[in-house]
Amino acid sequence: MRDTLTGVANRKAFDTELKIRAADAIDKAKPLCLIMIDIDHFKVFNDTFGHPVGDQVLRLVAHTLQEGLRATELLARYGGEEFAIVVPGAKLRDAEKIGDRLRERIAAKDIVNQNKNEKLGRLSVSLGVSQLQPGEPLSQFVDRADRALYKAKASGRNTVIAIEYDKNLHGGTLQDIKIDDQR
Ligand code: GH3
Ligand code: MG
Ligand code: MG
Repeated sequence: MRDTLTGVANRKAFDTELKIRAADAIDKAKPLCLIMIDIDHFKVFNDTFGHPVGDQVLRLVAHTLQEGLRATELLARYGGEEFAIVVPGAKLRDAEKIGDRLRERIAAKDIVNQNKNEKLGRLSVSLGVSQLQPGEPLSQFVDRADRALYKAKASGRNTVIAIEYDKNLHGGTLQDIKIDDQR
């Protein structure tokens, strides 16, 4: 259930835990948020310093994120250089603040290749945040954080964007749906 490179939860663990924590949040009528994180311009970093150095940097990013979290918050490696954090008990704006603190922590790190005592500069991450709307499919909750992340990238990177649940966009209750049959 752990990612071998970074030691944080792997994707499979994330999928399992997300279901458990979402059910728990709904059960207890508590908020639940998701933060999706993607390293900015990581391809350039790999191309410049090589894949093995990139791997070490992934470990550093995972460690830096983990250090900034509480025990109840679950950090997972979601994909290549993407991470996801499940944040129980936080509303959208609070999770956005948590995300921004993490963003600052990463941006403040000087990256040094200790083998060669060589400075490699700094990195940044972009983050997208969503809050679970009771009753919505988990895929939609994840998709909203993903869309927020995409917006953060589009707005220049090294930033956090939160997207609110939009009933008009996602379809509301059955009463809200009107079928207009003119035939
Ligand atoms: P941006 O996200 O800012 O749009 O640019 P990017 O260059 O980071 O683009 P993207 O997220 O599409 O690229 C992911 C890159 O991350 C591609 C690959 O070089 C690198 N990467 C993904 N997984 C790993 C890994 O396990 N190890 C290393 N070293 N690099 C990885
Ligand atoms: Mg990516
Ligand atoms: Mg990236």
